Amino acid sequence: MAGTFRRESLQLSDLDKLQFQALVRIFQGKAPGEKARVALDIDGVTADVHTIFVDEINRRKGTKYTIDDINHYDTGKSRINIPIKEFLEDYYIHAWLNHWKEIPLMLDVEKLKEVAFETELHCLSNRKEITREPLKMYLDHHRITMFVEPHQIVTQDFGKDKSENNYDVYIDDMPSLATSIGPKKNKFLFLVKRPYTNGVAETENIRIARSTNEALQMIIDAKRAA
Ligand SMILES: [Mg+2]
Repeated sequence: MAGTFRRESLQLSDLDKLQFQALVRIFQGKAPGEKARVALDIDGVTADVHTIFVDEINRRKGTKYTIDDINHYDTGKSRINIPIKEFLEDYYIHAWLNHWKEIPLMLDVEKLKEVAFETELHCLSNRKEITREPLKMYLDHHRITMFVEPHQIVTQDFGKDKSENNYDVYIDDMPSLATSIGPKKNKFLFLVKRPYTNGVAETENIRIARSTNEALQMIIDAKRAA
């Protein structure tokens, strides 16, 4: 048993190294003065809007769900079993319009500031236009707009494939991005671990990050090493 464990942890650290080197190469591939482009997702990565959904679902339905019951990215296929369209219209928009101040922040603002300084950082969020204004208020409330300017807050329609945007590094919680980014070896995906991200395999350019801060720290370290 001990031998198996050791072999597994060696394999893990080998993968850690390969992933780190892939990130370093992204920075090294930039011309002088050119910065790596980083896309930071909002929902489930910057803002833990899911805890607000769950509270609202429990309030309206008299249930006792926890965030672990959102065990599939498509909520209609998860244990909370709410069709994605209803979920977006009744809960997602409701949360952003009425409870944005209560949405827990998932990252260390000082770490994000460092990444914003070292890279071309954009907040890239697929969302309904109506939630753009509360998103800006949220980022302002957490003093993120001190270093993320309005043009760096990019919103686009649901259903758009983010991997077609011109970014080098993505920090996201959408499991299907692993499929679209995986083959693009010059791009790197941090998939932030959430109850609905289970089952995605790590590769040289796809890392399951235990937290958003872990992803931010690895970007800072890779930039320093490049
Ligand atoms: Mg998300």
